[in-house]
Amino acid sequence: MSTGIMGTMDKIRKLRASRPKGGGNGRLKGIFHQWKEGDNEVRLVGPFVETKTHFLAPVPKRGERGLCGSAAFNGDDKIPQVINCLNWDSKLEEEKVGQCPICRLGDLAHQALKEDGIEEKEKKALEKLRRDCRARTQLKWNILDREDPYVLSVSDGNERRVLGYKIATVGMEAWSDIEGIFDQMGFDISDPEEGLDITVNRGHNGTRVSYSAQACIDTSVKPPTAKVTPLTVEEKALTLNDIQVICGKSIEASRIIDALHEDYREFLEVNMEAETVSEPERKKESGTDQKVVEAAAAAVVADDDDDGLMGGTVSTRTSVKN
Ligand SMILES: [Zn+2]
Repeated sequence: MSTGIMGTMDKIRKLRASRPKGGGNGRLKGIFHQWKEGDNEVRLVGPFVETKTHFLAPVPKRGERGLCGSAAFNGDDKIPQVINCLNWDSKLEEEKVGQCPICRLGDLAHQALKEDGIEEKEKKALEKLRRDCRARTQLKWNILDREDPYVLSVSDGNERRVLGYKIATVGMEAWSDIEGIFDQMGFDISDPEEGLDITVNRGHNGTRVSYSAQACIDTSVKPPTAKVTPLTVEEKALTLNDIQVICGKSIEASRIIDALHEDYREFLEVNMEAETVSEPERKKESGTDQKVVEAAAAAVVADDDDDGLMGGTVSTRTSVKN
């Protein structure tokens, strides 16, 4: 058999496996789990996938202008508010050399902070930018939502509720508790047979949303003990969502750059130009003298979202060593 045919068959199998199914030949909707306020009882199933994401959107009620204006998230050409970091390989789950403009922007802010004589206001703005650019680690996990274990199966235009796994996002705060449960129990709590339900609490610590997690306790026995919840035959028969495929999509760097607030985009582009310009010079001059490319990103942009923040100038000097 030719390898070409094998390749195609493998591809078909892979594509088929990546499409979540819930009985029937339709597709599934409503697979993304949202943590609600208070307790959420869930059963983690199978391995998690580590992702690195950037949050781009403004949060007006907190006075956060975000990295992009709200227009970027509306209309035909909209981008998601949370994107995958392009410097993260979602298949290998490790860092890669990518062209992530958000990480680059964060690095530039970091560099600019090291320059002499920056004003306090500018420093604050750069520190904020640097924080906003940080990639967040999030774990994606197939779960059974104990309160609402249903997803929507769409087939021939008809929707019906079927039992199904949802994909939950676990941040590092909840993870530290969940990791503690793993350690405490001493076994894989996501195991189909030996695993147990956990409660994830979404609350508020006064300044921000906070998460905690604990094992569900069976109080009907003495002493109360963690309740092992083997998956039922029906639950075991369900297909796990292919998280790497579903959550591994990425947006082109150019679209991300286009969506940035104008001052941020200019800050990024001026510095990228400065680097490009210095390339041929690097070849021409073999000397060791240090050239300072003044990338005065005088991106004085009035607040494009009217939030009264970051109205000032963001500028930097980039040192380029020849
Ligand atoms: Zn990134």
